[in-house]
Amino acid sequence: MNLSERLDNPIFRTIQSCASKLNLETYVIGGFVRDLLLNRPSKDIDFVCVGSGIELAKAVSKALNLKKEPVIFKNYGTAMISFKDQEFEFVGARKESYSRESRNPTVENGTLEDDQNRRDFTINALAIGLNNHNYGELIDPFNGVEDLRDHMIRTPLEPGVTFSDDPLRMMRAIRFASQLQFDIDGNTFGGIMDHVDRIEIVSQERITDELNKIILSLLPSYGFKLLFQSGLLKKVFPEMVDLHGVEVIRKKAHKDNFYHTLKVLDNVAEVSNDLWLRWAAILHDIAKPATKRFNDRVGWTFHGHEDKGARMVPHIFRRLKLPLNEHMKFVQKLVRLHLRPIALVKEEVTDSAVRRLLYETGEDVEELMKLCKADITSKDHNRVQKYLNNFARVEEKMIEVEKKDKVRNFQPIVTGELIMETFGVPPSRVVGDIKNEVREAILEGTIKNSEKEAIPFMIGIGERLGLVRIKDIV
Ligand code: ATP
Ligand code: MG
Repeated sequence: MNLSERLDNPIFRTIQSCASKLNLETYVIGGFVRDLLLNRPSKDIDFVCVGSGIELAKAVSKALNLKKEPVIFKNYGTAMISFKDQEFEFVGARKESYSRESRNPTVENGTLEDDQNRRDFTINALAIGLNNHNYGELIDPFNGVEDLRDHMIRTPLEPGVTFSDDPLRMMRAIRFASQLQFDIDGNTFGGIMDHVDRIEIVSQERITDELNKIILSLLPSYGFKLLFQSGLLKKVFPEMVDLHGVEVIRKKAHKDNFYHTLKVLDNVAEVSNDLWLRWAAILHDIAKPATKRFNDRVGWTFHGHEDKGARMVPHIFRRLKLPLNEHMKFVQKLVRLHLRPIALVKEEVTDSAVRRLLYETGEDVEELMKLCKADITSKDHNRVQKYLNNFARVEEKMIEVEKKDKVRNFQPIVTGELIMETFGVPPSRVVGDIKNEVREAILEGTIKNSEKEAIPFMIGIGERLGLVRIKDIV
């Protein structure tokens, strides 16, 4: 197969000319070639040459008139060029040998064939010649093209060797299957099942990178089912495996929370590409196993799973090396509040209940509603429609109340400063108590968040508590 006509990026001709001058056999290899044949966009391009990749990168950088030198990683023998919004990586062809303790191999110079042998999957081992004698020629030693056609992930060598050498490849296999919606060849999948324990030598950051890519794929449940079936999920995210299974007591069964969670995740993925909303879906019921009870009259209950779940979020984030920042707080908030809109549906919807929810969700109310709608996984179409209509009613009410009371970005008129100045008290517990009482009254609808109503109300509370007003506020 000759693909020269499809190499429309001018970089390929530039590299051909540099490689020819330096007399270096050069190929474009890996993900770019795979994505070219799949008609998928890909930003980064990897080049391999038989010889020094660093030397080639320097020549290419010069030919492109770049002011910045290539970024060189001496330990890996690689060099990177950023050009417009693309990244080009250059490496000399290499042969690798692994020890048992580490996924970092000993490396020696090798041929193109050696280099293709060390690649993780047949579809990632494809190369295209960029030399005068083979420009555009596809070099496919492991029938990667056939696997692309069959939608199949397969290792080029014996799967046991591939996965034991670098166990991260197990996560990558499932990640590519999930991103590309491919199958994993039976023999290859067996290799993963045999080596799940080896994942222990891989750093958490790398595992989590792959997990996040699975989560961001079109149908993330597929990747999670593969993780589950292979045994990897138990190793990397046991809390999620704990959701699996159905218990029956006196003919009463609860739903399988693992498959329910995956359905919620897919539902959220249909309406949002946000990684953190997807994490909120994954974690929304995470404390169900820990809060599960059976009661003779009502059957199964999971009381408090939303609060306990929210408390579990930081532990899970820390262990998975996910960021402990506002993203975590967002996930935590959604887990904590995920039952509240449903509760609103059931009660008579009062303004004050809506105000409280708007106050607690703040800017994230739309995201919370996406999660709540995704959480309806009943197979009964009429029931789903009924719930969605109820949510629509709640949303209308939210818009109405927000328009009137503006609680989403609640800025209290009565601040701690104002309380301290008015009564001449230092920062103390009583200041917080007064502030809370005023806020409660506003959310309850007893008073408005205006100077006219909130300040006299504050003064009233202070006096009731025996404080003396030392300053008049207009
Ligand atoms: P994407 O960039 O979309 O994630 P990719 O295939 O380009 O996909 P990279 O991680 O960028 O993946 O790696 C580039 C290439 O390097 C791969 O196509 C593969 O040939 C090789 N590769 C990367 N990681 C490994 C690994 N752990 N074991 C073997 N080969 C690997
Ligand atoms: Mg890549």
